[in-house]
Amino acid sequence: MFFYKFTYKNKHFYQTLLYYIHFFVLIIKPLLIVNCYFCLQNINYYLKIIILNTISSSFTKNAKAEIDKAQNIVILSHKNPDGDALGSGLAFYNLFANFNKKATFIVPNQLLVYLKWMDGFNDIIVFENNKSKGQEIIKSADLIIMIDFNHRSRLSQVADSVLPHKCPKILIDHHPDPENIADLIYSRISSSSTAEMVYEFIEAAFGKDAVSKTIAECLFTGIVTDTGTFSYNSSNQITFKIVGELLSFGIDKDYIIDKIYNNYSEYRLRLLGHAINSKMKVLHEYGTAYIYLSQKDMDSYNFEQGDTEGFVNFPLSIKGIVFSAIFIEKDNYTKCSFRSKGDFPANLVAKEHFSGGGHKNAAGGEYKASLKKTIEQFESILPEYKKYLTVKSL
Ligand code: 5GP
Ligand code: MN
Repeated sequence: MFFYKFTYKNKHFYQTLLYYIHFFVLIIKPLLIVNCYFCLQNINYYLKIIILNTISSSFTKNAKAEIDKAQNIVILSHKNPDGDALGSGLAFYNLFANFNKKATFIVPNQLLVYLKWMDGFNDIIVFENNKSKGQEIIKSADLIIMIDFNHRSRLSQVADSVLPHKCPKILIDHHPDPENIADLIYSRISSSSTAEMVYEFIEAAFGKDAVSKTIAECLFTGIVTDTGTFSYNSSNQITFKIVGELLSFGIDKDYIIDKIYNNYSEYRLRLLGHAINSKMKVLHEYGTAYIYLSQKDMDSYNFEQGDTEGFVNFPLSIKGIVFSAIFIEKDNYTKCSFRSKGDFPANLVAKEHFSGGGHKNAAGGEYKASLKKTIEQFESILPEYKKYLTVKSL
């Protein structure tokens, strides 16, 4: 027995033992409780993220219930919204208009004017241009649907209004590692685009009859722009099944593709010529090429928002180039876009060196420095990746 053996001789031993027990109770136990709390948080987080090959019935049921209940919905997407962000958001916007439900689509900044033919485009609220109106709308929302982003940083200043808001939040997105920023999360990294997931959701929750030709046009635009017209991110059969279904709503595929890609100004094509001719550097030893454009370059070609969209893909057409980048000078930082072929993770470079992220083959970020310094930084990190850049990636 413990007390029976307690003698003066082994008093020191028991004192030490008691000391350790005390130590455990005082130090380790709170740590275990904290750890356990975080474990439970994590479990909660993973339970929320439905990583399946298709939409789950529980997400559909719960998200539909929130939409049915809501009277004032805010649809929200990321800064510098692309075709997928705008197409997915407008699909929801037009869906709710058909349901006679009040909804507002908010984006943090600038719109791609070449997508203005999509229904509802002119109703989009650009937060940066009207902050107080944006804040007011968010404040009165009873449901926020967030689409096509995985991290609060992608919301820039809108995050301060959205994240503390107590109303239910739904996130639908296809980027890796979604952050725990919503109550219901549908994340499918294998999906070509958020638009594809939005179609799955609308069909599962409200049936095919809820999809109008207008909604189908918006969703098709999202899929086309996020896959470079089916040249990447689109090896999954589901993408083509959904595109087949979208065509059944009577959309004119050729017309939409023409509107997306053949709707630029003459200046934009000349800027592309200038970029490739004079502002592209090819580093064959690293299988890498990049374009860099200053404010002056863009001013000389009457730059309009969206004009440099797609430029970053051109260097990849050079034999042996598996990694490409474009650096665009902004007021106090440099915007960076990355594209890669095969296994090279462009998103890793974006995340590790340019405060960004994205998909394996299409990523972006920014660097708080001049164009010149950004380029120097980019060239200086390439040796780190040489091993992966020079192995045949395709
Ligand atoms: P883009 O090069 O067309 O601007 O962006 C390509 C992809 O990179 C986007 O789909 C987005 O996922 C990601 N991306 C672009 N910019 C950023 C950024 O600043 N931060 C993060 N986390 N991802 C970005
Ligand atoms: Mn997307």
